[in-house]
Amino acid sequence: MTDDGKLTSSDHAAILVAQLTAATIRRLGLGLGSNLPGRLARKLSPTVLSHLSAQTARGVIAVTGTNGKSTTSGILSSILRTAGFTFAHNRQGANLVTGITASLIESSNWKTGIAADLCLFEIDEAALPVVAKEVKIGSVVVTNLFRDQLDRFGELDTTARLINAGINQNKSTAILNSDDPNVSQLAPDVTHLFFGLENILPSSSDESNTGSESSKLVSATSNMELSYCGKCGKEISYTTVFYGQIGHWYCQGCDFKRPLPKVVARDVEVAATHSRFKLVIEGKIEECVLPLPGLFNVYNALAAAAAAHHLGASREAIRYGMKEYSTLFGRSERLTIEGKSIIVQLIKNPAGATQALASCVKDSKAKVLIAINDNLADGRDISWLWDADFEQLAALKNGTMIVSGQRAEDMAVRLKYAGISSDQIATVPKLAQALRQGIDSLTEGETLWLMPTYTNLLDLQKILKAMGYSMNCT
Ligand SMILES: [Zn+2]
Repeated sequence: MTDDGKLTSSDHAAILVAQLTAATIRRLGLGLGSNLPGRLARKLSPTVLSHLSAQTARGVIAVTGTNGKSTTSGILSSILRTAGFTFAHNRQGANLVTGITASLIESSNWKTGIAADLCLFEIDEAALPVVAKEVKIGSVVVTNLFRDQLDRFGELDTTARLINAGINQNKSTAILNSDDPNVSQLAPDVTHLFFGLENILPSSSDESNTGSESSKLVSATSNMELSYCGKCGKEISYTTVFYGQIGHWYCQGCDFKRPLPKVVARDVEVAATHSRFKLVIEGKIEECVLPLPGLFNVYNALAAAAAAHHLGASREAIRYGMKEYSTLFGRSERLTIEGKSIIVQLIKNPAGATQALASCVKDSKAKVLIAINDNLADGRDISWLWDADFEQLAALKNGTMIVSGQRAEDMAVRLKYAGISSDQIATVPKLAQALRQGIDSLTEGETLWLMPTYTNLLDLQKILKAMGYSMNCT
């Protein structure tokens, strides 16, 4: 295999055919259309991905992990744009090898090849080793490793092994979350750049602890993945837990502990709609504002900052790009529909849902619509609903909560066990109807917090489109 980026005649043909196919799909309004062009291109030229990606002067950076891939890549692209980089990015969440091929072709000219100096790939954990065999990935960002989509990946160990294989394939630089012991122990034999959180300001953590004393305890421990020391096998201990298994960890059995991060968020303040923190990069401080709710998004911003720093973006570009970031694909998207305020936050696993709920209950004028499907893309197994901290919602005293989707009944049962009385729960399986009811119920100053699983989010896009509104991700 040649990897000097010289295009063969079949590469040229593959690019041309894929571009025409993508254009046709768009013209016919057949959806995102990320799969067919990529599949066709790869059939016509199996080398097209490796050749095109090798053409970029600054190489390839990949973002992977359970949660936050899209947000991290989104913030990173906002920073890279600010810094004046040109890059190809699979921004529509098409993160398997065919989607990545298609996105690269989108940024290419069929004669000359790629017209960007960097490739930014959001890659599914399982697809990383597959892509790494074809693409020389310079650096890999890993956001976190939570239990997610059990039926696809099985155990956490399997995911870690896949990511390790992907990183080791090209001896990529590993840009890792030092606070997640499942992540910071990955790929010990390559060069690392760690990012992590130093402290949360007390005022801000008081505010985030809405709910009862017992629910605080639940949220501190219920999403914790048991993590084990890579050196001696003992269970990991903590001096501070931020959420889930993420915090300042150490091993009681040996000297292994959280690596000291080079890119740090200090004095973090988490508010209902945004966060502030001091970003410290190699001793230099930038005051940052992130227009996204939730501590998990501070981690996404940190991951993006570390990656941008590694790629040579200035601290100013990092601060500005972060501030300017607007959300993608239903990750904390804010909408105004018929003059009413709606926040859409995708939920798909216990840790992400718990964080979304924590943001929601901080809003004293929040109304809630939760939509749960169990299609393949949502994860067939919905037992994760029992691991997410819906108990927090008991703190909301704001009328009826609506549950929707194929598994609306299960969600209603979950809410009952979370301490919500049944006359406060409305079960409306059809999402369009549930949305209508939710919007109509809003009074002045109230916000509808709509928490859908993935395929409900896709449905929501269609429903909104029919109503004449569009989400950012379309
Ligand atoms: Zn140990």
